Amino acid sequence: MPTAVRFSPTRTEIAGVGVEQLARQFGTPTYVYDAAKIVERIHDLRAFDHVRYAQKACSNLAILDLMRRNGVLVDTVSAGEIRRAQAAGYALHGDPPPVVYTADIFDAEALEMVVKHSIHVNCGSPDMIEQLGRAAAGRDITLRLNPGFGHGHSQKTNTGGEHSKHGIWHADLGKCLRLAKEHGLRISGLHMHIGSGTDLEHLSQVCGALEKAAGEIGPQLASISAGGGLPIPYREEQSYVDLDAYFALWDATRQRLAAAFGHPLRLEIEPGRYLVAESGFLIAQICAVKQMGNNTFYLLDAGFNNLARPILYGAYHPMAIVPRGTAAAPLQDVVVGGPLCESGDIFTQEEGGFVRTRSLPKAEVGQYLVIECAGAYGFVMGSNYNAKPLAAEVLVCDGQPHLVRRRQTFEDIIAGEQIPGA
Ligand SMILES: *Cc1c(COP(=O)(O)O)cnc(C)c1O
Repeated sequence: MPTAVRFSPTRTEIAGVGVEQLARQFGTPTYVYDAAKIVERIHDLRAFDHVRYAQKACSNLAILDLMRRNGVLVDTVSAGEIRRAQAAGYALHGDPPPVVYTADIFDAEALEMVVKHSIHVNCGSPDMIEQLGRAAAGRDITLRLNPGFGHGHSQKTNTGGEHSKHGIWHADLGKCLRLAKEHGLRISGLHMHIGSGTDLEHLSQVCGALEKAAGEIGPQLASISAGGGLPIPYREEQSYVDLDAYFALWDATRQRLAAAFGHPLRLEIEPGRYLVAESGFLIAQICAVKQMGNNTFYLLDAGFNNLARPILYGAYHPMAIVPRGTAAAPLQDVVVGGPLCESGDIFTQEEGGFVRTRSLPKAEVGQYLVIECAGAYGFVMGSNYNAKPLAAEVLVCDGQPHLVRRRQTFEDIIAGEQIPGA
């Protein structure tokens, strides 16, 4: 099990490669991922029968390829993510399903793909059961259940309870069983994902709710999934979940169901954040240092167009300055912001948009700042706001940096746009 973390306000290297070298070679802002850290996190979860990566956290093909080569299955939430899995070498169909489509809706393209390629579907609404049943009767499906309560580090990440749009409402399970039967679908899997920020006491409630629903579905069930939501420490005072205890709770649930049904059940876990968050670093350059009243601002070439978690959730990310020379620079309290024409473009903000300061070494224009634990929900939430190109992405394997996505060009940004009559 991983141990406590320590973050330093200075950093000179990432996965053994100098930050200045990375910045010179690839420019800024650039995301850098440490492949070894991802492999280590996969290994942490080896007690589970299958680890299924929720690729929405970071879906670069090179990351998906790394997952695949390390025996990790993949979860997809759109036609585009199915095609990403395919492009990274995943077979679309198999036992256990290498690719699962988990959503609350089908759009036309997603329904067509899952029908055509026999992709296993995890249904998050009664409508999905009907639509799939009409298009492809006879399939095995999984039900994603909303147990009526939730958990998450903010309202925006809470995925259970009546304010969440996710999953099939627990009281509708009977109706869904009838719908599935009517349409010749066999419910072979049961899934619950109730949001980021798992604690063990809460988890035992989740296991209890899943076990009860599994009892209603009966022996047709062949697998259960614990969903995602495993947290990682973004601050020193936060800690890792006790993975042994976490597994033990789920395993006991699975064993009781296996005994009741008279056959073994597969136990899956479906993390996004846990596998990739700590592997990812966003390197940015300090472009201006200015004093505004009592506040000192470091303004970077990276903004919420590159990393949206602070403006979306008030998320906290560790940050470090790449030192110049050998003398230790004194710490000072600074506000760290980006280049966008938007006053919310601040990395040091709390939920509600309140601007805070961070204690970082004194730094000058031209120095680099690294935003850490940025591998999950970082690049993938990037945008072209203010006509900024999406950042480059680099994967470091065995001390070697590989460019796995080139920085967008201006031509990439305007591709597809047309002036009428021109
Ligand atoms: C987002 C999501 C996950 C991953 O969540 P994390 O908090 O990143 O682990 C897993 N399963 C489903 C269905 C999801 O929507």
